[in-house]
Amino acid sequence: MKVICIGRNYSEHAKELNNPVPDEPVFFLKPDTAVLKDNAAFYHPDFSTDIHHEVELVLRVSKAGKFISEEFAHNYVDAITVGIDFTARDVQQKCKEKGLPWEKAKAFDGSAPIGVFVPFDADKAYNFSLVVNGERQQTGNSSDMLFSFRQIIAYISQFVTLKTGDLIFTGTPSGVARVSIGDKLEAKLEEQSLLHFSVL
Ligand code: ZN
Repeated sequence: MKVICIGRNYSEHAKELNNPVPDEPVFFLKPDTAVLKDNAAFYHPDFSTDIHHEVELVLRVSKAGKFISEEFAHNYVDAITVGIDFTARDVQQKCKEKGLPWEKAKAFDGSAPIGVFVPFDADKAYNFSLVVNGERQQTGNSSDMLFSFRQIIAYISQFVTLKTGDLIFTGTPSGVARVSIGDKLEAKLEEQSLLHFSVL
């Protein structure tokens, strides 16, 4: 199982990090050791002092596929939830300055908590949000994505075969910020709370 993440898929988030808005999807991978389930606690790693939360809609692949067309993309994903793409922003910044891959800033253990899955509709506009210590910190709607669910699935599958159980993180809206030990994070899809955990 692999985790595929789309970067810079909301223009307001690209702007807040001074990144250009891409003309094709940007993607990167996390290993299965990044995934946290069942509201398990996130242990803040020592190698960073600037771990950011990025709340994202997460798709679950239900069927193997390669060269999937946008028209049939909905047949390859059966469920959606919310997740956090934890990012060591200080480590990422150093990698970017040196022109190096971001892997160690994105792929570390526990960097991909995911919530409970619900049935997926490829053409629905999903509202989602992140509440940190009781305050709403990020809100998004999938209709603001630069690349739609169908476009993302089709694009990734040109390069990487999708397999049953793979996860696709679809990008974060604006409002990313640092987390601290003791924080309590809760992610919602519409008004349904699907993920809540502590930073330890
Ligand atoms: Zn992200």
